[in-house]
Amino acid sequence: MQILHELIAVHTRQPFVIARGGSSEWRRVIVRVVDERDGAEGWGEAAPSPFYGETPETVVAALARIGAALANHDPWALETAEAEMNRAVRWNASAKSAVSAALHDLAAKRLGVPLYRMWGLDPATAPQSTYTIAIAADDDALRRSVDEAAPYPILKVKLGTPDRDAAIIRTVRAAAPDKRLRVDANAAWTAKHALRMIELLLDYDVEFVEQPLAAHDLDGLRFVRDRSPLPIVADESCLVASDVAKLDGVVDGINLKLAKCGGLREALRMIATARAHGMMVMAGCMIETSLGITAAAHLAPLLDYADLDGAALLKDDPFRGVSIAGGRITLGDAPGLGVSRGQSR
Ligand code: MG
Repeated sequence: MQILHELIAVHTRQPFVIARGGSSEWRRVIVRVVDERDGAEGWGEAAPSPFYGETPETVVAALARIGAALANHDPWALETAEAEMNRAVRWNASAKSAVSAALHDLAAKRLGVPLYRMWGLDPATAPQSTYTIAIAADDDALRRSVDEAAPYPILKVKLGTPDRDAAIIRTVRAAAPDKRLRVDANAAWTAKHALRMIELLLDYDVEFVEQPLAAHDLDGLRFVRDRSPLPIVADESCLVASDVAKLDGVVDGINLKLAKCGGLREALRMIATARAHGMMVMAGCMIETSLGITAAAHLAPLLDYADLDGAALLKDDPFRGVSIAGGRITLGDAPGLGVSRGQSR
């Protein structure tokens, strides 16, 4: 098989800012896996994050090595293809996840079924997706974001500012009195500050808190979780399936992302491992087009919580795939991932 790529730039309607910074422009790598024997192809997207050591350039470099490793591989042999990718490149999760998505797209297209069907999943059981309220420049901008999120009944509020967290949650709650709220601190708090914030968040009827502390601080996370009235979910602390066991007793749930774990099969292993440890499972995303979001959305029937708004935040999404209009995750019945070129709005 042949692995082709295309670099693209997409733009969020508002600057997307979290505790460690943000941007309005996002460079992504679109991957096509082509079987030269019959020209059939599958598609995937890499959404590299500098936080996890990736850039579009490292993705392109990793794709060259993956392409060489998989050149003579059977495209149907998804399990060994992912193992082969892991042997060829150690990290570079977003690059591997793009190829993984493309291989699954190709296999399910050939079977003539949507990917969720190939996995035996019922798309009607997918949870609703949140819509993210990023850190805004001021209260007016924050209220505009909440207005923009009007069709979405569940909001995920980004916190982790030096001094505005209390004001942010107060403003969002006032602007959205009846919505379900979840909070993501993106590793910005200390344990002591997290416990103070959680008391406050309880007053605003927040459902759970994602990654209050630094990724490596598992002792701190355990300390907070033991004292927190709200469930704690690990994101930056949980990249791959082998991280999940270490988080048993440390947090209540995990947030998996294809760009962190490196592929759809590793994502399935993370879900199975978390379930075996009695933990709740969420899937999130980076800012990505509908191609990347749709690959993750096929996992949605296995989730408790979904945060798959990455493409909904874009003003120039070049793909059409899953819809999360109003938070409802709607996977179509087209074969494969079910993604086509063309803007949906
Ligand atoms: Mg997060």
